[in-house]
Amino acid sequence: MALTGLDIFKQLPKTNCGDCGVPTCLAFAMKLAQGQAELASCPHVSEEAKAALSSAAAPPMRGVTVGTGEHAFTVGEETVMFRHDKTFVNAAAIGVAVDASATDAEIDAHADAAAASVFERVQQEMRCGFVAVRGSGDPARFRAVAERVAARSGLPLVLMSTDATEMGSALEAVGASRPLIHAATEATFDTFVALAQQHGCPLAVRAEGAGAVAGLAERAAAAGVKDIVLDSAPGTAGAALRDHVLVRRSALVKKYAPLGYPSITFPGELAGGDAMLETVYAAADIAKYGSIIVLSGVEPWRMLPLLVLRQNIFTDPQRPMQAESKIYEFGSPGPDSPLFVTTNFSLTYFIVASELEASKMPGYLGVVDAEGLSVLTAWAAGKFVPERIAKFVNASGISERISHHEVIIPGAVAQISGELTEEMPGWSVTVGPYEAADLPAFMKARAS
Ligand code: SF4
Repeated sequence: MALTGLDIFKQLPKTNCGDCGVPTCLAFAMKLAQGQAELASCPHVSEEAKAALSSAAAPPMRGVTVGTGEHAFTVGEETVMFRHDKTFVNAAAIGVAVDASATDAEIDAHADAAAASVFERVQQEMRCGFVAVRGSGDPARFRAVAERVAARSGLPLVLMSTDATEMGSALEAVGASRPLIHAATEATFDTFVALAQQHGCPLAVRAEGAGAVAGLAERAAAAGVKDIVLDSAPGTAGAALRDHVLVRRSALVKKYAPLGYPSITFPGELAGGDAMLETVYAAADIAKYGSIIVLSGVEPWRMLPLLVLRQNIFTDPQRPMQAESKIYEFGSPGPDSPLFVTTNFSLTYFIVASELEASKMPGYLGVVDAEGLSVLTAWAAGKFVPERIAKFVNASGISERISHHEVIIPGAVAQISGELTEEMPGWSVTVGPYEAADLPAFMKARAS
């Protein structure tokens, strides 16, 4: 039973010191009850109270890590139903399934395609997260394919089988790499729980419907398995959406512990072999609320849009996307090339950068850390002001790479040119175009 705000308040020091970032203990208690704060934020809470509040302090959705090393991923740990309430925490993992019954050449092709499925967007790397190996009823083959795929792709594994002998055989070979075991069912529950405990691996539980899967999860937790993933085995895309929303709402709003785990989805099972429909269903899973999404292929035409969708949904709305603050080069610039400056709001950077590229003329672009704000907003907020621009230019070392001392500022902040000249003795300040789209013409006019 979830604790109420008043239950929690009774356990707090009631000094209203504000050290938790909230003005009063009562307000902090209310936030804790709603999963919007962490007990650790109060440095004065007693050990006794910590023990009493452990259920309220526990995250409503457990984080589960699959794999080890640089490509390991964690799903879960979400605290809100909607991204705009705060932020989503761990992006859904998207991967591909291979059948152990396929030929070695086919399996190698899948593993290689998964490893190569890497994209960069707004300076962030996005990649295929894992390979799921589906059993064929042959323990030796399943084990060999699991080993082959792990070595070839370097990615975390999901081992899919309902046969305990087959699963046990593969775990003997790759269990140390912490694959996700998929899945314990009513029929295989005891043996799969034992395998998960023996190898210290996360365990998926599969049963039809949220109620049945909650029952298996509760039994697995009672048996000592901590890292659990839910599979409600939906028969249609509509049932999948219903189950995902029900599970997430039960965990976060109702604080129903048996459903407080991430989920795994197989959109291809619902799409009848239609790859386009599978991709559409996967998009629905990313939006609501699949955690581990298993696809039948990783062709760029489906991975890139899904990864972009994921990137947008799992970006923290409280923190604007930012480009790295540094000097960027365009078109092999030399000592005479012009130096532009702008802010590190991603959209601003990419618009300015694309126009500089389009000009096909060499230049430098200094991206000033303005806490991710666009030019005018940053200026109004005091983040893109002469003092800050001068500090950036001086620290960047650009003056050793150019023979002139001219900096070109966006036309939108023409009003700072005088003050910037005072901040940068020995430099001249030129006001550039108001719109980035006019940069190519501006550069050509200067060169002629
Ligand atoms: S830090 Fe603790 S004692 Fe201080 S106001 Fe917050 S909850 Fe109360």
